[in-house]
Amino acid sequence: MTADTQGWTLVAGGAGFIGSHLCRRLLEAGERVLCLDNLQTARIANLDTLARYPRFRFVRGDIAHGLPPAVLREGAAIRRIYNLACAASPVLYQADPEHTMLTNVVGTDSLLRLAEQSGARFLLASTSEVYGDPDVHPQPEAYRGNVSCTGPRACYDEGKRAAETLTFDFARMGRAEVRVARIFNTYGPHMRVDDGRVISNFIAQVLAGERLTIYGDGSQTRSFCYVDDTVDALVRLMEADLPDQQPVNIGNCQELTIAELVETLGEVAGAPVRVAHHALPTDDPQRRRPDISTARAWLGWEPSTSLRQGLHKTYAWFAEEHRALRVPAAAE
Ligand code: UDP
Repeated sequence: MTADTQGWTLVAGGAGFIGSHLCRRLLEAGERVLCLDNLQTARIANLDTLARYPRFRFVRGDIAHGLPPAVLREGAAIRRIYNLACAASPVLYQADPEHTMLTNVVGTDSLLRLAEQSGARFLLASTSEVYGDPDVHPQPEAYRGNVSCTGPRACYDEGKRAAETLTFDFARMGRAEVRVARIFNTYGPHMRVDDGRVISNFIAQVLAGERLTIYGDGSQTRSFCYVDDTVDALVRLMEADLPDQQPVNIGNCQELTIAELVETLGEVAGAPVRVAHHALPTDDPQRRRPDISTARAWLGWEPSTSLRQGLHKTYAWFAEEHRALRVPAAAE
């Protein structure tokens, strides 16, 4: 198939953290990638790297306000749509909660309509946040969650829940062929240093010689998945024939407390770390670990990168970024 007859894979949010890794994976597999991003929380350097691939095209636009003409014009040439467009760090998605909600509702609706018109298969990047502060542990897809619809996280949690509703409604009505991935905490290179999530915060703090900011007493748990594993699962989910319509959890089952994460990171960095305790954010889930039986059975997938391996790679990448940023300052 030549590039021109091959059609586009549209990645909304393709300049962001997971989105840019996904774009690179697709480009390396020979796909033509149309990246749509509003650059609200993207790392601009991610785009520079992607722009080196001849089959990559970037369109700036905000799905919360509908789709730009440059995307709509491609119409039937679009054969796959990944929707990863939304700020995912609690600090960033709470900075403009109305926009976060609209990104998920108006944005997902616009992309689903495009999928309907073009016949493209649609994948929604949903989140473990749909389980809220879970009272079932680990969380299987059948668990309906414990989410506050009025709290500060609701713009994201409820936004993603509404996006899932829309996605399955389109499928039930025969309007689009869909996939829904519930992505648990993911980390790796190409996160923004000021992203605000725990692993990027901690690594940036170690490199700056600052105290690591533990929110609360550090007894809350998370299960962290290395980004290459997450992207592998997303592509498999998009391409697989599924036996049933349901969301699929994507995450790593190795659960640890935030205090244990500090300890592990200190070992990876090979340096003593100091901590400072800060207030626990409102509605911060106390524990989180995916049940990935569905992904194992349907996609033949499970993560292959251990936390220690992933932290080593991520720390090395952040250390390189840190050095590069310090060079001009040192030269002054
Ligand atoms: N956290 C922390 N220090 C930080 C950032 C986050 O202790 O500098 C905690 C946060 O309260 C939560 C966990 O780490 O319990 C994961 O937070 P993150 O923002 O990465 O993602 P979340 O899973 O809450 O969406």
